[in-house]
Amino acid sequence: MEHDYRKIGLKVGLEIHRQLDTIHKLFCECPTDPHETGREIVFTRWLREAQSELGEVDPAAVFEAKKRKKIFYHGDDKSICLVEMDEEPPHDLNKEAVEISLIASLLMNSNPVDEIHVMRKIVIDGSNTTGFQRTCIVALGGWIEVAGKKIPIQTICLEEDAAKILEQKRGEVHYDLRRLGIPLIEVSTAPVIESPKEAYEVAYAIGRLLRATGKVKRGIGTIRQDLNVSIRDGALVEIKGVQELELIPKVVELEIVRQLHLLRIKEELLGRGVTVEEILTQPIIDVTDVFVNTNSKILKKKINEGCKVLALRLPKFSGLIGLEAAPGIRLGVEFASRARAWTEVEGLFHTDELPGYGITVEEVNNLHQKTNSNDIDAIVIVADEEERAREALECVRERAIEALHGVPSETRAARPDGTTIYMRPRPGAARMYPETDLPPYPISPEYISRLRENLPPTLDEVAKKLAEKYNLSKQIVDELIDMEKVDLFEKVFDETKLQPTIIASILTEHVKSLKREGARVEELKDEHFIEFFKLVSEGIVAKEAAYDVFKWLTENPGKNILEAVDALGLGPARMDEVEEKIARLIDLHKEIVSINPGKAISIIMGELMKEYRGKIDGARLHRMVSSKVYGQKS
Ligand SMILES: [Zn+2]
Repeated sequence: MEHDYRKIGLKVGLEIHRQLDTIHKLFCECPTDPHETGREIVFTRWLREAQSELGEVDPAAVFEAKKRKKIFYHGDDKSICLVEMDEEPPHDLNKEAVEISLIASLLMNSNPVDEIHVMRKIVIDGSNTTGFQRTCIVALGGWIEVAGKKIPIQTICLEEDAAKILEQKRGEVHYDLRRLGIPLIEVSTAPVIESPKEAYEVAYAIGRLLRATGKVKRGIGTIRQDLNVSIRDGALVEIKGVQELELIPKVVELEIVRQLHLLRIKEELLGRGVTVEEILTQPIIDVTDVFVNTNSKILKKKINEGCKVLALRLPKFSGLIGLEAAPGIRLGVEFASRARAWTEVEGLFHTDELPGYGITVEEVNNLHQKTNSNDIDAIVIVADEEERAREALECVRERAIEALHGVPSETRAARPDGTTIYMRPRPGAARMYPETDLPPYPISPEYISRLRENLPPTLDEVAKKLAEKYNLSKQIVDELIDMEKVDLFEKVFDETKLQPTIIASILTEHVKSLKREGARVEELKDEHFIEFFKLVSEGIVAKEAAYDVFKWLTENPGKNILEAVDALGLGPARMDEVEEKIARLIDLHKEIVSINPGKAISIIMGELMKEYRGKIDGARLHRMVSSKVYGQKS
């Protein structure tokens, strides 16, 4: 799947969002990390009408307004207050959040503004109780260097995180308000990234600079990476919500595959002589009677509920809807996801995938007849309430017309497998207006100078120092830093004086390989590591046992290291048994012990290691055998 990225004109820009680890939220005094759950609060609202203050119609707003949803907000009185409920104006902008974002801005060579103006950005999917998200620019311009290349930064913003979606069903959406108002920093790069790998590297570099502030949250859900991806002759596509850094290259790669696929389909459609006119004039036809005795479960269910099956003929589209460029990348998926996003229909099929899903050859033939289609045409059918089914097919028609133009510019959501799905149209430009409830927030040059003089070291600088101090490779130090294990490493070293490479590699490599195998590494606590390394330094447990010990701990949550050591038969209690075994082996080999003790030791060690490798430190065992052998001889 390797492409010549320059040849296809790949351009990627990043928007990195990360939660700040402040005590309070951005516009109220609610904690960002509540220690307890209070009394439950639930209330409902109706989704707002789409209305821009400037009177313009925003395509993203129209999209949400079409859905007529009831919103349920959930929270508790220790995590939310009247501000999150939109019953009270915002309180003053959080000073701590402003300071962290200014420090991050300076680390990225960005220029802080003189005055912060809080703006309202229209967001009407219900994820903000106010109908907008508060956001403000804290710095403009700047750059970071990644692998010798300067990546320009466009803006650095501070904004409030939105409520978290809990559940979505037809006509209803549930949000958790606890996340609403947590400060987020947003860093946007210029679209100068030219390969999937570079996209990863830039996101990684920004993440490290943010972490250098020491004040960003960590863990799943605290980071969201949005990508703007375009290729030559394709379109600018905004991909939202990539949570894992490692997924970025795959998302970019698959977006290239998708855009190239859509461009090939466009060429083929134009080659077949398909016109916009032709698609526009196709009638939507009721084909319910074709399916009255159908075996298709979903169609049967819908028809029994009183729904209709409607059909739209797409002239000369045959074979192109089901054509797959990569798993999940088909025009058919584009049709279905567009229709579902706007109308929430369930049963949508097209003739490239039929017969199938219980729909027979005969039904397909009847469908062709009823819609006056030939083999070269494709037909899309939708089963739902008539009005909804009709709207869904209009979405399909619109998307089919876009196929003649290539790649539509739209907002898509990233999925865990790296593919993306249609989310909504790209919002219009005129969706920001000033927050009238808050005065401007001045930033004095003196304040900036003070921050500039006290900037924290970057993680690269931290890594360099650590590598020198402990004589470790840059790579392993970077891993300690990225896995947030530096403090633990230093603590273990201070307490055990074991070799730094041994400590570092167990803390990084072992944990990573356990994680790869699906072990619940989050069960491993700092005390586990400290206690384990103490036992190693005392010679009670071999360092080779690390993997087994930590694996056992991930499988037995809540247990301590001594319990692990006992369960795995590594405990000190076993030492009597080892001594006995050594005595028996010496007895067995007593001839050679008297002639050539050195050789005897290696023979005995060989046998012992078969049983105790990874369970008892080899050096310790060797000492025990030697002293017994020489003791015997004298
Ligand atoms: Zn609050």
